[in-house]
Amino acid sequence: MVSTVLSDRAPVTFKDPLPPSVDVVVIGAGVIGISTAWFLEASGATVLVCEKGVVAGEQSSRNWGWIRQQGRDAAEVPIAIDSVNLWERLSREIGEDIGFKRGGILYAARTERELARFERWLPIAERHQLDTRIVNGKEVDALIDDRPGQWKGGMYTASDARAEPAKAVPALARALHARGVAIREHCAVRSVDVAAGKVAGVVTELGRVRANAVVCAAGAWSTRFLGNLDVDLPQLAARATVARTAAAPNVCDGGALLGEVAIRRRPDGGYSVAASSLNEHFVGADTLRYVREFMPALRSSGRFLDVRFGGDLLARLFPKRHWCDDDVTPFERTRVWNPKPSADALRALRAGLAERLPKLADVPIEEAWAGMIDTTPDVVPVIDRVAAYPGLFVATGFSGHGFGIGPGAGRVVADMVLGKPTGHDLTRFRLSRFRDGAAKEVGPSL
Ligand SMILES: Cc1cc2nc3c(=O)[nH]c(=O)nc-3n(C[C@H](O)[C@H](O)[C@H](O)COP(=O)(O)OP(=O)(O)OC[C@H]3O[C@@H](n4cnc5c(N)ncnc54)[C@H](O)[C@@H]3O)c2cc1C
Repeated sequence: MVSTVLSDRAPVTFKDPLPPSVDVVVIGAGVIGISTAWFLEASGATVLVCEKGVVAGEQSSRNWGWIRQQGRDAAEVPIAIDSVNLWERLSREIGEDIGFKRGGILYAARTERELARFERWLPIAERHQLDTRIVNGKEVDALIDDRPGQWKGGMYTASDARAEPAKAVPALARALHARGVAIREHCAVRSVDVAAGKVAGVVTELGRVRANAVVCAAGAWSTRFLGNLDVDLPQLAARATVARTAAAPNVCDGGALLGEVAIRRRPDGGYSVAASSLNEHFVGADTLRYVREFMPALRSSGRFLDVRFGGDLLARLFPKRHWCDDDVTPFERTRVWNPKPSADALRALRAGLAERLPKLADVPIEEAWAGMIDTTPDVVPVIDRVAAYPGLFVATGFSGHGFGIGPGAGRVVADMVLGKPTGHDLTRFRLSRFRDGAAKEVGPSL
């Protein structure tokens, strides 16, 4: 069986020569970068996507594959609603099967208290005419065909969807490429060029490209990339572990959060499964630097980040922060951030399956992997212009829920770059919120 995730050894498939100049350079070929490029191209802009590793090599192929509207921050919901519709449209347009299906997403509640927490989110759904509803224990049992009687109820959105992450973004990239957009893998962007006080292009490991606008969609690397330009972006990375089962009985046809475990039906008849709340953050220089910004989130949920000290602590405490255009950068040294799956998470997952889904407990796990989630202190993304560098834009920090909202966010970023109305209030996503105190309002961790 071919591995689901892409490693450092993944072959390079997009090798376009660097054009001397384009309208927009996009840094990063995850779901955000590729979606942004998609909508830029659709508006007639010329675009180059530079990827230090391979398309969707990091978070965008490693995630659970949930395309979720429910349980989001109020400011994200209208974009997430657009996004699920866009996923549906794109899945038809790109001519490849990406496993898109509106199979619904369920959050099951073990206690009245949990159920009450879900109920508090309902006014947001109602405001946007979303089909989210509170279901009782019997209805949960109808949705989850395993160990009936264990749930008080839940929150369910039938229009929520799923897709196969390892297929979806590469397929979108192929379709984008077929439309004439240049994509270059193994091409780290080292810095931006500035002329007359504004962005004039990028410096890549393969040479310079002129551009009027640059979009930093560099996921867990964005803080580092922007730090070299002295732009401060409080964001930390957390390891999340996922596994893929062999073909299994159909206990649920969509996605479900069932206490300690999260599951998502796969088109191959198995499930992507994960221990739902284990996000491991390895302490480093940025932990110390941003501890104040992250304090409200850490206080609001003890499980927000599980702090770890292992691995190469010394290297993490003294990272290279600045480099010259000719230096080999950290981006070239790690083509694909491919962390080892966590043994703790796999143990928690096994225990969770035995407890919540006995029908899946003995189904073989065929593969396990991990990804580094880019999280902001308030668990909502940054989608903004960078004031100090006219022409530089940033779209990052999707905090563990950027796959579902990816195409919607990409359209917003494209419109922002082109100076068109985005149709959404983006105040909540501004970069300056970390310095004006507003980022203390932590998004829902539902
Ligand atoms: C285990 C796990 C489960 C998740 N589950 C879900 C889910 O079910 N639903 C959901 O909506 N979201 C989920 N997420 C979150 C989602 O995967 C991310 O929010 C989303 O993929 C982020 O996309 P991105 O394009 O911003 O970042 P990424 O996919 O990380 O892409 C950023 C890219 O930028 C490249 N890059 C970085 N620096 C440079 C540089 N200097 N030059 C060139 N390239 C560079 C990187 O190599 C990388 O490929 C999950 C994430 C993980 C890890």
